[in-house]
This record gives sequence, C-alpha cells and structure tokens, in this order.
Amino acid sequence: MKVWRSRVGGSDTATAPRPGSHFIGVDVGGTKILGIATDGVTATIEYRELAATPKDPAKFADGILAVVGGLLDTVPDVAGVGVGVPGLVDHAGVLHYGPNVQGVLGLDIAGELMRRFPVPAVAENDGYLTALTEHRLGAARGHDHAIVITQGTGIGGGLIVGGQVLRGANGFAGEPGHMLINRFGHLCACGRTGCWEAVASGAGLANLARDVIAEGKGEAILAAAGGDPGLIRGEHVSAAYSDDDPDAVEVLERFSWWIAQGIGSLIALLDPSIVVLGGGLSAIAEGFIDGVSRQITETVVGGDHRPVVPIVAADFGPEAGAVGAALRARDFVING
Ligand SMILES: [Zn+2]
Repeated sequence: MKVWRSRVGGSDTATAPRPGSHFIGVDVGGTKILGIATDGVTATIEYRELAATPKDPAKFADGILAVVGGLLDTVPDVAGVGVGVPGLVDHAGVLHYGPNVQGVLGLDIAGELMRRFPVPAVAENDGYLTALTEHRLGAARGHDHAIVITQGTGIGGGLIVGGQVLRGANGFAGEPGHMLINRFGHLCACGRTGCWEAVASGAGLANLARDVIAEGKGEAILAAAGGDPGLIRGEHVSAAYSDDDPDAVEVLERFSWWIAQGIGSLIALLDPSIVVLGGGLSAIAEGFIDGVSRQITETVVGGDHRPVVPIVAADFGPEAGAVGAALRARDFVING
C-alpha cells in the first residue's frame, strides 16, 4: 500500500519524478484561491487557475478541490499537489485553525485531495511555503538563518534556521503575527488584543490610521475611505501618502516603529543574517522600510555591537505561496 503522507524517515514510495512532470501549487487566502503548475524546481508558471475562497466554512474544502480539479483537467503529467493554507497546519497536513478562515477546524486537506484525485498531495502553512520560495529561489537564497515576513491583510511568515524552514514540534512554527507585543493594543483577527499583526499588517495600518483620526487628524485618509473610519483600509493610507499628506506620513512612521519592534524581537531570538519583507504591503514598502531599518539598531538588544541585519524586499510577490506549494509538492513526492 502506498503511504504518501509519512514525513518521518521519508516516504516509503520515494521516487524521482519523471522528466517533464508538473507539480500543482495552490495558495489559499482569505478571499481567493490561486492554483498554478510548475516543474517543481523553478518559479516558471505554466498554468494558472483563480477562484474565490468560499465564504461558507463547510464549502472551504470544495473550493480547493475545484481549483485542483480544474488544473488536473488541463495540466499534463501531474506528479504531485501542494496546498498552502493560512493557519495552523500539522505535520500530517491537517488544518487545525486559521484566524482568517474562521470556522474551518480540523480539516484534513491532503487527505481530502487524495481521496478525490489519484495524485500525492501535501498541505502546509502558507507562510512556510513563502519562506521556502524565498529561501530556495529568492531574496533569502544562500542564507542559513533568515526571517521571511509577509504583510498582507494579516502577517504570515517563515523562519529559516540552520538552512531549513522551521516547522516546530507540531508544524505550527512561524506565526510572528500573533506575538503579543502590546497588552493595551488593538483587537487582532485571532480574537486577542495586542498581537503584532494588529499594528504591523494591512489591518494594522488601518488601525493606526483610525488612531490618528481619533486624535482629530487624518482628514485625507478619512475622505479616501468615504468618511467612515470603519471602512479604512491600508490602501487609503497609501493613497493619501502618495499625495504627500502629512498625517499619512505620521501613520507610516508609527507603522514602521511597530514593525521595527517586532523585527527587533525576532532578531534577538533567532540571530538571522537577513530579514525579507513580502506580501501585499510591499507595494508601499518605500513608505516604511527605511524607517524600519533605521530603528532596528535601537530595538534589538546590543544593536550597536552586532552586525547590521539587512531588511530587504521579497523577490516574489503574491505568487510566492503557490510557487512554494509546487516546490513542496515535488519534495514530498521525492522525500515524503
Ligand atoms: Zn492575533
């Protein structure tokens, strides 16, 4: 009997994929599902499929299966499928919980795929897969110790330690967004107060904008959001920033300060040689990345007495997770 899912000691079916094989990589976000196919080695995308993430948690798995099924209908010689999901995914590919996919609990994604399709499948945390892509093909290449942070609506990430993307005891390592950094802070998507994500993601940028508005400032930002503070999103801040609005500049200064607090703690903990920032917010990184770099020396212990850790933009954009899922699918077929 074939056992595809064992990760301990490698798969009992370890085989080298045939030349010309394709690997499907799927990145499941809070709002959309991106499926691609590559050779599992490079980032060259040959096929692509996009769908909305089902709002009903009971239909979550069906949404993923539909994207994979659509690709399997068109992509020749598929040797494996990898899926990245935003949440706590264990070593067996079971999604236990995800703050941005509320209501999806204990879902055996890899198992569902293999029950439906005759192809080996593996599921991972999306941040893990993004870090895999940046480490193997992107900005963290050649770094045995690196931190990859993706800033979108929330914060994802992966920690490269000793040349490997860290998994942790359960597979749940690499959730820097939910480090608690301010007991009196903003409400996080996970339901707790004071997570780093609540001040350092797209949602965090909106929270900081609302703070400025509550202080009687930020008219341009509020206008960009149609006058309703509850509707403010990160892009409203970036739009005002592009127009040289001084209040938007202040919001981004606060934003860079909070980002620096979190990165300083991560550097103290892991001693990386590089920090890579990716995700949707990289589009406005010029508004905060220099500020973050300047403040790291103050936020990390012994900042004046240790090498400067470069903070750089990710090489891969929104497709990093899906590319990593295809890389992981190939690894899984070969090594388990
Ligand atoms: Zn949280």
